[in-house]
Amino acid sequence: MKWQGRRQSGNLDDRRGMSTKGKFAAGGGVIAIIVLALQFFGGETGQTLAPIVEQLGNGQGSQQVEQRDLTAQEKEMGNFMATILASTEDVWAQIFNENNLGQYQDPSMVLFTDAVSTGCGNASSASGPFYCPADQKLYMDLAFFDELKTRFGAQGGDFAIAYVTAHEIGHHVQTLMGTSQKVRSLQQQNRSEANRLSVALELQADFYAGVWAYYNKEFLEEGDIEEALSAANAVGDDAIQKRTQGDVQPDSFTHGTSEQRMKWFMKGYKTGDITQGDTFSALLN
Ligand SMILES: [Zn+2]
Repeated sequence: MKWQGRRQSGNLDDRRGMSTKGKFAAGGGVIAIIVLALQFFGGETGQTLAPIVEQLGNGQGSQQVEQRDLTAQEKEMGNFMATILASTEDVWAQIFNENNLGQYQDPSMVLFTDAVSTGCGNASSASGPFYCPADQKLYMDLAFFDELKTRFGAQGGDFAIAYVTAHEIGHHVQTLMGTSQKVRSLQQQNRSEANRLSVALELQADFYAGVWAYYNKEFLEEGDIEEALSAANAVGDDAIQKRTQGDVQPDSFTHGTSEQRMKWFMKGYKTGDITQGDTFSALLN
């Protein structure tokens, strides 16, 4: 994808250089240490003051947040992520405007290493990239994208990362439009449909990722769509189950098959029309 020189978002919160170090001295009591970490990141994205609240239990003593410098390659990745994020902001602001959906509200994106505390609870790299509706933030440990290649067998590439990011942004869009909330209450009313509703929600996020790609056509390079499809293929429920448990159980699917995920991404990419993304009728009727 052509991304150098394009606008970078100011809504990127890069915490990759930070790690919590230090042992607790023995002793009773529960203490909370509030660590204010001044955080800089390179490029045109400016700087943010990010308060980190560390809740420390069963011990006394100091715990420090260690900050190391990011490598040149990590900085480059940060710039790339800030550019993708900016592009989703521009595209969705335009789509919301054109479809009278009100004002698009920018989410923020947190880049982290190993573990992070979020409005949806604590998370580790094992959760993979996710969107938390409670604080309207995307959380990404970029190590996932190495795993996407080595563990999930995707071909990788910058557009695979862009697709996954755009998928998570799709969940933000669903939150702004009220779809996520509707689906959650339907799932509570009808437990037997919960998985199918989850699949529909996930496939719609893939569709929205495709719509975002449609609006980025001028920046696409040869092979980009294949990178996205390869990633979508790799994270299909059937592909993951085959790899992890050897057999495939469609009733337990929560994200959709590889074929469905690729199909809905492509539908978004070909139409560029958000009104074509009714995965719910397509799946539930
Ligand atoms: Zn998802």
